[in-house]
Amino acid sequence: MENTLYYVGLDVGGSSMKGGVVDETGRPLSGVSLPTEAHKGQDFGLERMCETIQAAVASAGLTMNQIAAIGVATPGTMDIPAGIILDPPNLRPWQNMTVREPIEKRFKVHTAFQNDANAAAMGEYWVGAGKDLHSLVLYTLGTGVGGGIIIGGIVVEGEHSHGAELGHVKIEMTNPRQCGCGRLGCLEAYASATAVIKRTREALAQDQGQSRLHVVKDLSAKDVFDAAALGDELADKIVEDTAFYLAVGTVNMMHTINPDVVAFGGDMIATGEGFLQRIRRHVAEMAFPVPAAKTKIVYAHLGSDAGFIGAAACGRQLYKKKATE
Ligand SMILES: [Zn+2]
Repeated sequence: MENTLYYVGLDVGGSSMKGGVVDETGRPLSGVSLPTEAHKGQDFGLERMCETIQAAVASAGLTMNQIAAIGVATPGTMDIPAGIILDPPNLRPWQNMTVREPIEKRFKVHTAFQNDANAAAMGEYWVGAGKDLHSLVLYTLGTGVGGGIIIGGIVVEGEHSHGAELGHVKIEMTNPRQCGCGRLGCLEAYASATAVIKRTREALAQDQGQSRLHVVKDLSAKDVFDAAALGDELADKIVEDTAFYLAVGTVNMMHTINPDVVAFGGDMIATGEGFLQRIRRHVAEMAFPVPAAKTKIVYAHLGSDAGFIGAAACGRQLYKKKATE
């Protein structure tokens, strides 16, 4: 297998970072995880990224000189072409931190830089929910709502690296909820796992003691979905409304770019086919008939590997571009 090309992807999150090597077909050969420890500062953070990349390569039984390209994905606002993290809410000590260039210099390997949600979308597009399709929209539902759009293999990152912020599409401006971004009426303020818990607590405060969720300690979004599955009325209403909010976001995307597939991933998605059916039903009521009939609405396929696989895919794209220059 002399001619096989290998790529490393690194997906940096608020609490841990995950790195892995993938081959030319997108198959992961390794997956390693180390704590991010952003509080230890920028130099430490960069060192930790390099460490994770090296561990991923070693764990795949390879050496660095067998790696064609690296892809690094990080959260928060960033300047993608410049390779700089700007103002990451979960990685405060990393404000204005240059990432791409030092990693490229260290390993002397072409290094791509991308937003984490965009990278996850790229992973799903390459070998997951969007495999063999032309365009994909990905929502990642967790503490926040991340978004990524891929059209014809191109990451829609926008002119100022702020494209595809699908969690901050406005869905309600009458008595809007405040979003984690500080602005009002964003999808994330309604449909993230955090928002589901907040909406449930508010509903419980108004409830006369019927819901089984009254006795649940440390309420999670999963508790709410589980209770809904058991027929809990209050929980069912929360889940139904969440599906509606996500459908509003989805229809806005369908009427903007008319994608092949809209996929939902992230921690909150361990909830069975029923939740998707609810989203599809609301989409069918709100969307134009042709996209409503033709757009696939599915769960993402790659779980928490989507980020590093997609980051590797971005590295692969860069390698191919450089090879033809
Ligand atoms: Zn927002």
